Amino acid sequence: MAYDDQNIFARILRGELPAIKVYEDDKVLAFMDIMPQAEGHTLIIPKTPAITLLDLPGEDAAYTIQIVQKIAKAIEKGLGAKGIVLMQLSGASAGQTVPHVHFHLIPSSVHELGKHAATMGDTDKIKAQAEKIKSAL
Ligand code: 5GP
Repeated sequence: MAYDDQNIFARILRGELPAIKVYEDDKVLAFMDIMPQAEGHTLIIPKTPAITLLDLPGEDAAYTIQIVQKIAKAIEKGLGAKGIVLMQLSGASAGQTVPHVHFHLIPSSVHELGKHAATMGDTDKIKAQAEKIKSAL
């Protein structure tokens, strides 16, 4: 399958759609999930146009996971998260809904996770969580 450059995350990367960002550098963007499965649900995406983890060049995957760890530490410190679920869905069969590779960091226990990509979160609450994560970076 060819990469669709009109997917939501490609449009966020180009600044065509808004996002509540917590971290950005030349290779990676981290922003809040608008339908959080738990408070503080954050997405980390490489800027490389790849659909799934399997399509992502190894060096980009290696760099992105370092940023995933950096954001996880900020979530722990900034939000006082006791545990963080790292989720990565590759392929529609696995439940992937946005065809640009991304890593979910969900401060929660797997037993308490809300339904995936189901209910819009409260924007003001999400913005407040993003500020706490940013200040802990
Ligand atoms: P996937 O199902 O592909 O693993 O995850 C996609 C995630 O993106 C879901 O958790 C969903 O809530 C989130 N999402 C969908 N549309 C948007 C959007 O426009 N902005 C943001 N920030 N998150 C989105």
